[in-house]
Amino acid sequence: MFDETCLFCKIIAGDIPSDIVHADDVVVAFNDINPVAPVHQLILPRRHVASAAELTEADGTMLGRLFDVAAALAAKAGLPDSGYRIVTNVGSDAGQSVPHLHFHLLGGRRMAWPPG
Ligand code: 5GP
Ligand code: ZN
Repeated sequence: MFDETCLFCKIIAGDIPSDIVHADDVVVAFNDINPVAPVHQLILPRRHVASAAELTEADGTMLGRLFDVAAALAAKAGLPDSGYRIVTNVGSDAGQSVPHLHFHLLGGRRMAWPPG
């Protein structure tokens, strides 16, 4: 549930400050410290899950909550008209640097495809 070696668990617990944009009983979201787009927010479950590779059908409700929050935050930031991206990196080759499941909400500029 809480991994004392995990940066995002510490942020969720309030031990490390962050710019929180959403918090409820299941989901926390905050602005990325190193934004790569005009809107760059991280949406994550309070429960420590290392990555999307660990998700199962039993996590369906939690995932639904995460995507509800993502859509609400995108709307709040005015993104839906122009489009936006939700991405999660799995493992170091994909660029995952924090091993606590999180979805990047990126928007406010045109996104390239394929990603680098
Ligand atoms: P990943 O590389 O694992 O897909 O994404 C981790 C993200 O967390 C990166 O975009 C990075 O900028 C962000 N990040 C790392 N440390 C902190 C921090 O202490 N506070 C915040 N708000 N974001 C962080
Ligand atoms: Zn964690």
